Amino acid sequence: MQKSAVQNPEKIFVRATNWVGDGVMSLPALEALRERYPSAEIVLLVKPWVADLYENHPAIDRTIVYDAAGEHRGPSGFAKLVEQIRTEHFDMAILFQNAFHAAWMSWRADIPVRIGYGLEARGVLLTDSIPVPSPAHYGHQSNYYLQLLFRAGIVERVEPVERIHLSVENSEKTWAARQLKSLGLGGPRFLVGLTPGAAFGPAKRWLSERYADLADRLIGALNADVLIFGSPSEKLLAEEVAHNMTHTPVILTGETTLRQLMALLVQCRLVITNDSGPMHLAAALGLPVVAIFGSTDETATGPVSPLARVIKHPVACSPCGLRKCPIDFRCMKGVTVDEVHRTALGLIKEYGVTHDRPAAQS
Ligand code: SF4
Repeated sequence: MQKSAVQNPEKIFVRATNWVGDGVMSLPALEALRERYPSAEIVLLVKPWVADLYENHPAIDRTIVYDAAGEHRGPSGFAKLVEQIRTEHFDMAILFQNAFHAAWMSWRADIPVRIGYGLEARGVLLTDSIPVPSPAHYGHQSNYYLQLLFRAGIVERVEPVERIHLSVENSEKTWAARQLKSLGLGGPRFLVGLTPGAAFGPAKRWLSERYADLADRLIGALNADVLIFGSPSEKLLAEEVAHNMTHTPVILTGETTLRQLMALLVQCRLVITNDSGPMHLAAALGLPVVAIFGSTDETATGPVSPLARVIKHPVACSPCGLRKCPIDFRCMKGVTVDEVHRTALGLIKEYGVTHDRPAAQS
């Protein structure tokens, strides 16, 4: 265990992770940090696309947005950011992001205690360079961040994470209800959200024609309305799913901010998803989730929720962790529409999910 963690820091700098899914999985560690230092000001350095995830989160006081393509672009932009961080006079830096750059930035900003995993040859820049635990020691990624705090002597023990919590404000729910009404989806409805994309690459994506078949079957079985979500770069994929459907879904792919996506997901009674950022959002928002895994390891990055079910076809080459399948995509081709449909209906039956949305949201 390392010794230099500050006893009573007034200001803590946290370099947050860059991906939405990792951000969600790091929330238990941020909550543990808040519990350990209830009166400290905890400030996150975040990339623009993930910043809104932390809005109004009780573990965080505020964020500094690191816009490497905008005002912090190039050496002069980076120097400006470092100066901004330096003038904050943080007592301690905790690096959830593993890049050399994160340690370099904290060192240059004169933060006296710098804690992170000793990766990317950055140990020399850290006051507490924590050896990376083996996956057998941390298991799920949410524990990976907690282990950093434990091994740095900040928290005394680490319990397995069984639930991750996220919420949206009432005003956001009201916005979502109005938005749905404007799309002709007002009143009590059984909304099913599909997220057929995955930013990491096609190896994580179940086949679009199977999403389409599944969506039609859920509409038939549940009298559901289907919403398709995703990022702007996944618009074509969403259109492909819609094109292969008999019914007409509502495509919201590329039409929402992160907070709007969260607010609209909350309106859904079921979410079918690949291993992706929206999967973690939906699970943390407490929705019934069916997550389809192929190239990745569900024990490491699976949804953390009792209302989530993972479907995976066992193949010897998984997890490969590749962006694109170099062989015949047997991991995803082995997942049938029947299996996902059956699992979805079983989940709904198990949790008694009804057509009603909470009154405040309708
Ligand atoms: S190599 Fe195997 S696990 Fe990886 S994407 Fe291809 S089929 Fe899936």
